[in-house]
Amino acid sequence: MATNPFLVDVSAAVHGDGLPVTTSHTGPSPSRIGPEMIAIPEGQDVTVEATVTPLGGGVLVDATATAQLKGQCVRCLRELTPTETITVSQVFSGSDDFITGDAEVAEDDGSGDDVPKIVDDIVDLEQSFVDEAGLNLPFNPVCEPACPEDSDVPGPDGISGEENDLVDPRWAGLEKFLAAEDGDGSSSDSDK
Ligand SMILES: [Zn+2]
Repeated sequence: MATNPFLVDVSAAVHGDGLPVTTSHTGPSPSRIGPEMIAIPEGQDVTVEATVTPLGGGVLVDATATAQLKGQCVRCLRELTPTETITVSQVFSGSDDFITGDAEVAEDDGSGDDVPKIVDDIVDLEQSFVDEAGLNLPFNPVCEPACPEDSDVPGPDGISGEENDLVDPRWAGLEKFLAAEDGDGSSSDSDK
């Protein structure tokens, strides 16, 4: 049996007594989900907890996906493996009537969003999480709370941490060279 964690069985909600039904399922992600520098890798275990609320002719699914991400710090290029939870809310239609009604509204919006369908009492949340991850995960992820190099810097006052952060490791040698020249001049004219 497929273990795609983004496939949620909504039969209990659709054919039940009208109350929301919460399910939780863990399985390997069927695809890489996230922007270029950090994402849920394909095959990474994802825990999806979904609350399915029956609507007339459809369902509302509020879901969270929790997984360990894999990425790379854009400053020091260290591997990042934070665990993040992504939250989505998505309506799925269960009948053509539902789609028609919504399509008219969508036309007025000009949004053109398609309402995904319930297929055989299953909804697929993957696209919702793909969209949400694209919006919410950082495009320029960095070490938290700071890159190891940054924590070693004693932090002289007057120099913003941001400036230190931006020094590329490849230019560190050059920085030292410049600092040495500067140092000679400033030490001789102190208290002048
Ligand atoms: Zn870093």
